[in-house]
Amino acid sequence: MSSCNEIKSCDYELPKTCPCPECTTIANSLSELEDNFGCRKMEDEKIIPQSWCRECRIKGVKNK
Ligand SMILES: [Zn+2]
Repeated sequence: MSSCNEIKSCDYELPKTCPCPECTTIANSLSELEDNFGCRKMEDEKIIPQSWCRECRIKGVKNK
């Protein structure tokens, strides 16, 4: 899983492109990832990027 392009900084570990399954928004940098997707902290302290962008997560919540 760690052989493809990754940006590593601080505790972040993210794929270089993470298209949102809903709108294909991608993040090309840590700042874009934070802006477009956001991250969440897992129980083991690992920080992972959200798979859906912020907008789609908001819409998804509202649709349900
Ligand atoms: Zn999206």
